[in-house]
Amino acid sequence: MPEFRRDPVMGRWVIISTDRGKRPSSYGNIPKQEEPKMCPFCPGNEGSTPPEVLSYRKNGTQPNRPGWFLRVISNKYPALRIEGSLNREPIGIYDKMNGIGAHEVIIESPDHAKDLADLTVDEIKTVLWAYRDRSLDLQRDHRFKYILIFKNHGEAAGASLEHTHSQLIATPIIPKKVEEEILGAKRYFEFKERCIFCDIIRQELTEKERMVNDYGDFIAFEPFASRFPFETWLLPKQHITHLVDFSDDIFVFLAEALKDILNRIRVALNNPPFNFILHTAPIGREYDEVYHWHIEIIPKLTKIAGFEWGSGFYINPTLPEDAAEFMRKIDSSRAEELFAVSAVKS
Ligand SMILES: [Zn+2]
Ligand SMILES: [Zn+2]
Repeated sequence: MPEFRRDPVMGRWVIISTDRGKRPSSYGNIPKQEEPKMCPFCPGNEGSTPPEVLSYRKNGTQPNRPGWFLRVISNKYPALRIEGSLNREPIGIYDKMNGIGAHEVIIESPDHAKDLADLTVDEIKTVLWAYRDRSLDLQRDHRFKYILIFKNHGEAAGASLEHTHSQLIATPIIPKKVEEEILGAKRYFEFKERCIFCDIIRQELTEKERMVNDYGDFIAFEPFASRFPFETWLLPKQHITHLVDFSDDIFVFLAEALKDILNRIRVALNNPPFNFILHTAPIGREYDEVYHWHIEIIPKLTKIAGFEWGSGFYINPTLPEDAAEFMRKIDSSRAEELFAVSAVKS
């Protein structure tokens, strides 16, 4: 059973999850991971994954069989477990809790050779729908306070399988980073009675120098204090707090924007590893006024080292305004020819 342990100085919770299979002796000499011969996410191999919790599939096909367009399964090596209760208990000055949570994998396409950015707008919309449907289901579980959805693309960004997928983790605690973000937004709201993100959007649209693209309902820009080169944020212009609050038609525009921005990054930086994180408010309506839903995309181009660990400062070697100018000039449709899906990957 994984467990949460609370750092008594920093107040942050750490997940200790030994199920993920690292023994103290197994860190030193890591043999190069061999490509698995069989991809568990490919159609036909449904039996080698935990059963699906959701799938969108062709009429007349059976669950856990081929015929799906998108499949959501529990993670085979979950960081947290769905069964049980929290049982928070003190150990002297320390605190621990059972590692309760949901850890799911969204297999975005049956096609092994495609990346998320290769999918059609319609297919990307389906991925976003899956995020919404799973969020709607999990937010009914009263043990959970937060649902984090993210994607790791490329081994250097933490993806252990090549087949395109994203992940969802529902936690019984509001993550510390989310709490800090909310606190900042709250402070601004108390002072100005306006949403900080709505104000950022307004300023970026006026100043334009950090803008990457204006999609009408969404905007993409490089944040003023980007921590990383080409860190890119995608926000709806409408003040929306949760992904589940988007109307059906706006998902198409979000899919279009996401496809364009991912392809721009791909063309600009030659298909770099990246992480994207959906920033949504904690479950419930408490943060509706102060929090504004968005996606943060972080290409993995630099390493976090001693100074960053020690100080919490990030050193970004690229001026966000320069990165934005570079990104604006990119023709995202070139991704198709540059990264043509061929049999090479499978
Ligand atoms: Zn595959
Ligand atoms: Zn807002």
